[in-house]
Amino acid sequence: SEVATMMDVPVTKVISACMSLGMMVTMNQRLDAETLSIVADEFGYEVDFVTADVEENTVVVEENPEDLKPRAPIVTVMGHVDHGKTSLLDYVRKENVIAGESGGITQHIGAYGVQLEGGQKIAFLDTPGHEAFTAMRARGAKVTDIAIIVIAADDDVMPQTKEAVSHAQAAGVPIIFAINKSDLPTANPEKIKEKLAAMNLLVEDWGGKIQSHDISAKTGMGVKELLEKVLLEAEILELQANPDKLAVGTVVEAYLDRGRGYISTILVQSGTLKIGDYVLAGRNSGKIKAMHDERGHEIKEAGPSTPVSILGLDGAPQAGDTFKVMTDEREAKDIASKRTQLQREQSVRTQRHITLDEIGRRIALGDFKELNIILKGDVDGSVEALTDSFQKLSTEEIQVNIIHKGVGAITESDVLLASASDAVIIGFNVRPAGNARQVADKEEIDIRTYSIIYDAINDLKDAMEGMLSPEL
Ligand code: GDP
Repeated sequence: SEVATMMDVPVTKVISACMSLGMMVTMNQRLDAETLSIVADEFGYEVDFVTADVEENTVVVEENPEDLKPRAPIVTVMGHVDHGKTSLLDYVRKENVIAGESGGITQHIGAYGVQLEGGQKIAFLDTPGHEAFTAMRARGAKVTDIAIIVIAADDDVMPQTKEAVSHAQAAGVPIIFAINKSDLPTANPEKIKEKLAAMNLLVEDWGGKIQSHDISAKTGMGVKELLEKVLLEAEILELQANPDKLAVGTVVEAYLDRGRGYISTILVQSGTLKIGDYVLAGRNSGKIKAMHDERGHEIKEAGPSTPVSILGLDGAPQAGDTFKVMTDEREAKDIASKRTQLQREQSVRTQRHITLDEIGRRIALGDFKELNIILKGDVDGSVEALTDSFQKLSTEEIQVNIIHKGVGAITESDVLLASASDAVIIGFNVRPAGNARQVADKEEIDIRTYSIIYDAINDLKDAMEGMLSPEL
């Protein structure tokens, strides 16, 4: 349909042109580059392919191992609502023990750094929850090194706890459980650990590998030990970065301050950012005029794993945008304006996701080895039955992974996870809720809903064999 509009021909003509090539397509289907060229040619047009990835997602440069130095871990706090995420972040923020300056973080800038008594540092992303985490990931940003998942010991392993676990696992980020509210007489940490074990999440006390600690975000009990476990996990991960180069990293937050202009919080991931550097961030650029830490102190340099708020960009980039220091101001401006133009045209999408219709073709091409599925159902029984059946469809060529399953409607957070993990969403007797459908359309996520188990299994089977009839 988009191509037809661009060429100003009826969409039915484009569809029949595709049919004459032996392709059954629908209006909403996306065409590959080759088909596009042939079809356009048919109508006397030539296709000019431009890429939206103008220097997108900072290329990972091979680093010389000698240049790498240890860096602080970057942590996200997730968990079910009211289990104490905000309280934990607040406690850590208040008790921060930078020499002679306990507390004092007054500003919310989206991320903050703490220093422990031993001098080690940890950076926290200050927007709790897996939605923020996965929204960033959907934009291609990998920021978090470790996820703390908070579970209230007077409650239970709840749906959002499970979601948080799936989101962290899908990102390959190690989990540490903080069993919170241990100060309450009704707290029962053992029950929580037992529930986790039943989900195959074995914590250390239970002979497993996942770290966990009983804490109280209210009294502070156990928080220090929890942070030590974060450091331990970080040590295992051998987090490193080269501080001696131009800085690259990710935008965490940005807004317009009436008096001061655009302020962006960024997390330096490698290199060192300095005042006066020329920065390209998403569709914006500018020279850094000032940098502040989370205490509002002015700083001149920010090394790896340091969150800073910067002044000087010509606009507000989006959370999850990458930033990098450029040596050539003109080039930075050019790239920023090219990105803006591409965005405006909206004709080029940066990301494309798998759909059931496409699976067969992609398998045949041999570039598709894993099918990620998010499965939501009305009752536990059907979710489990479908999980089993789907997993059994795995073949030598293709592995079916259920990256998240749960009872309840399909949510925006499911769609974001699908977008970040290139998954399709299958709903059984449930529908998309709230904004989920709109977000799915925007992110081009395939959502299929069924009310007969047999139909769901058959569709998936057909899709994997490349036999699925297109959804009209
Ligand atoms: P969030 O929704 O996960 O961010 O949860 P909050 O941090 O807002 O906490 C929800 C409620 O639980 C608040 O009323 C907190 O005061 C309370 N709370 C959080 N942590 C603790 C704790 O360790 N002990 C007790 N007794 N209450 C807590």
